[in-house]
Amino acid sequence: MSVTGLPPYDPQNIFARILRGEIPCKRVHEDGFALAFHDINPQAPVHVLVIPKGAYVSAVDFGATASDAEIAGFWRAVAATAKALGLEEGGYRILSNIGPDGGQEVPHFHVHIFGGKRLGRMVAKEAAP
Ligand code: 5GP
Repeated sequence: MSVTGLPPYDPQNIFARILRGEIPCKRVHEDGFALAFHDINPQAPVHVLVIPKGAYVSAVDFGATASDAEIAGFWRAVAATAKALGLEEGGYRILSNIGPDGGQEVPHFHVHIFGGKRLGRMVAKEAAP
């Protein structure tokens, strides 16, 4: 069991398959720690996913069990990706969904990078209390 109580890591999840090259992706950045690629169903003019190369279910699992080098490498890859996308000047949003209430669909830790316009509210109106 992962620390979030989610099921154990499933090596057949779609991002594991992308990492193994079994499914293509539109790559933005890759290094020893992470892969960044365009989301298949973009929710903003720029919508890119950054995933660690290691097998982690969620942000909590990653923070609790990844090595210091993996954690540093991942966040440096996120910054390098935003820079490669030309988002540094205008800014952008990073988001990670965790579990069912968070809306996580793919059980391999990832952050979304959204940008390319003023993004508005942080949480959709219908999700507000
Ligand atoms: P989550 O809801 O888990 O935080 O986000 C999963 C994201 O993965 C969604 O935004 C979805 O559009 C994206 N996605 C799902 N399958 C694929 C795929 O095969 N390729 C790419 N590039 N993105 C995917």
